[in-house]
Amino acid sequence: FYASEMNASVEEKLVLLEGLRSALDACLEPGCRGGDCQFSLLYQPKVDLRTGRLFGVEALIRWNHPEHGMISPLRFIGLAEESGLIVPIGEWVVRTACAQAQAWRAAGLPPLTVSVNVSARQFEEKRLVERIADALRDTGLPPEALEVEVTESSIMRDLARSVDKMRELEAMGVSLSIDDFGTGYSSLSALKSFPISRLKIDKSFVSDLAHSADDQAIAMAVISLGHKLNLRVIAEGVETEQQRDFLRANDCDEMQGYLFSRPVPAARIAEMLATTLAS
Ligand code: C2E
Ligand code: CA
Ligand code: CA
Ligand code: CA
Repeated sequence: FYASEMNASVEEKLVLLEGLRSALDACLEPGCRGGDCQFSLLYQPKVDLRTGRLFGVEALIRWNHPEHGMISPLRFIGLAEESGLIVPIGEWVVRTACAQAQAWRAAGLPPLTVSVNVSARQFEEKRLVERIADALRDTGLPPEALEVEVTESSIMRDLARSVDKMRELEAMGVSLSIDDFGTGYSSLSALKSFPISRLKIDKSFVSDLAHSADDQAIAMAVISLGHKLNLRVIAEGVETEQQRDFLRANDCDEMQGYLFSRPVPAARIAEMLATTLAS
């Protein structure tokens, strides 16, 4: 059961799938608000590298299995993709994240942008934009407070259709960022046509930043490319002060990583926001 999805036997996959299905069913029951059901969201702060201000959070799904405990998304998102279950799970993620962001606002806390990950299969789904619009309407969250993180490879599967979809989201007021930038491939000319506002430097380029001249060159190139295209650039996986200092010295705009905070429950974000109100 714990084997990674790639090595998992057919039988293990079936057991995992069955578990995902029943976890989803339970989460869709009325009383479940992401708190005590098997799926929950943690939120990881995103901070401005110049001001240190907490300006956004990324919602990250967690699965607390009744027998097997916490199961990492790396172990089940792939299977959810393969089976199509990612579509309803993703819808739950969007709704829960929007409701949470709206709850922080309603509590009078400083406004934040909440980002959700949308995987390839979800991005290809016809009703994606409609589902997002419904979630925004039902929760009352302003579209400007929502960001969608999508990878280059998801976009490149069907470029023309992806660009249409991104334009619809943009027209609604939802912003887009390219996740794991540099690990997939997207031609620079395609990148120019994307209505996005952010590039996210993947953590694989950040982890060795203090020691690897190659990773430094890649990070600097992404920052300068992003800025030339009028995009903000965020680095993920920032764990050390050296990494942060390098990014700051090279004009990266924002960061996310264990150095500032691990992904945390919603209540912890509210405390962090309340501290900034008090100061
Ligand atoms: P990602 O979108 O690239 O998210 C970043 C991952 O890096 C998260 O892992 C986060 O917890 C982790 N991380 C953050 N800061 C640091 C750091 O300083 N050092 C290190 N080593 N890691 C850090 P997580 O939460 O396990 O998620 C893994 C992947 O699963 C995500 O990668 C994303 O692709 C996927 N995922 C997570 N939640 C969702 C979701 O709601 N929907 C979809 N479609 N995918 C999701
Ligand atoms: Ca992400
Ligand atoms: Ca990443
Ligand atoms: Ca990713």
